[in-house]
Amino acid sequence: MPRVLLLLPTTTYRAEAFLEAAQRLKLDVTVASDRPAWLTGHPPTDLLTLDFKDPEGSARAVVKLARDRPIDAVVGVDDTTAVVAASISAALGLPHNSVAAAAAARNKHRMRELLREHGVPVPHFARFSLEENPETLASSVTFPCVVKPLALSSSCGVIRTNDAAEFVAAFRRVAALLTQLAVATRDILVEDFVPGSEVALEGLLTRGELRVLALFDKPDPLDGPFFEETIYVTPSRLPGGIQAAIASCAARAARALGLREGPMHGELRVNEKGLWVIEVAARSIGGRCSRTLRFGADMSLEELILRHALRMELPSLECERKPAGVMMLPIPRAGILSRVRGQQEALKVPGIEELAITAQPGEELVPLPEGTRYLGFLIARGDSTEAVEASLREAHRKLEFEIRTHPTAGPDTEARTPNARAFSV
Ligand code: ADP
Repeated sequence: MPRVLLLLPTTTYRAEAFLEAAQRLKLDVTVASDRPAWLTGHPPTDLLTLDFKDPEGSARAVVKLARDRPIDAVVGVDDTTAVVAASISAALGLPHNSVAAAAAARNKHRMRELLREHGVPVPHFARFSLEENPETLASSVTFPCVVKPLALSSSCGVIRTNDAAEFVAAFRRVAALLTQLAVATRDILVEDFVPGSEVALEGLLTRGELRVLALFDKPDPLDGPFFEETIYVTPSRLPGGIQAAIASCAARAARALGLREGPMHGELRVNEKGLWVIEVAARSIGGRCSRTLRFGADMSLEELILRHALRMELPSLECERKPAGVMMLPIPRAGILSRVRGQQEALKVPGIEELAITAQPGEELVPLPEGTRYLGFLIARGDSTEAVEASLREAHRKLEFEIRTHPTAGPDTEARTPNARAFSV
């Protein structure tokens, strides 16, 4: 039985889906995580603790372990573990992205440099140290711009600013966030804000060749100041010619970074000037969003990724064409989650297939730009992408999130999501 090493951070939403896929394929599984005693009670797996902040140390630990239990593939699930997976695979001699390529995709500044060098369209950008004076820097910035940390994800710390005063405030806010998270690199990227609509591309690379698995539209405008992901629907409603151009732009972006193997997730914007690459990641789609995708005879994205990593036969890369969508349930305000009402009503909305409330009662909710979590995920399928989108919005309206004000919080932050009701208790 082939053995796969899954790198699952304790915060991942993907554990279940990957473990299920591994079980379906009857694989031997070793799970490495950043904290011990996670996932105990799950189907028989080997558990291992690795420091994901130290890819080389992780590789050494796994090489030792692999002497007794050979490992046939290593799969990471997010930006950080993609680099660790590359490092372990290199040490074990398994085909994978190079460490340099995975690391470039993980660093927003390095990614921008490589994309620009290779002629892939990216916004104008500059890197600044947080030790500099933002009031002085503001005079060299073109507005509107986007301020972002170099290596966080899920739009954490990503802020649009329209003038010098907003820039100074955002700069200080990101500096405070990086201090709070003890991030060592105290630099930020400042880039031109690219207006337009945004799409997410899910792809799979084999020996440098990109196959597009799905293209998602994001129908809610993402104009800032924070960039909260909500609805994704697939297939895209963009004209075929633009979709083909997006695929070829994403393939050029992968080549520019040197990505060659495994899943790739891209975020691109489309406007009257053309296409713009916002981000390319050496991982698959986050959250529970992969539940929207089915391949061949009911194969999950995770199964496809595991098969690909193990060089097993890939029965089909054709994604089911039936329109599907996901809504990442955004956190409307800071506080402590008490309870969620209306779940049965939301599930009864035609087209809704699943509702997963992933936030736990008693959990502290932190909205963007400091937070990275969602309240949960709604999945829908329908006869048209319009119907899917309508189902997701209606189901969201049925949900009520009871959020207690955090005892140490200042004045209530206003609910930013107009749909679902959030109220204080
Ligand atoms: P993360 O990896 O944390 O998600 P991104 O760089 O992908 O960070 O930014 C998150 C979101 O912020 C993007 O999906 C996009 O909606 C928005 N965004 C980021 N950079 C820009 C930009 N230069 N112009 C317009 N929107 C942007």
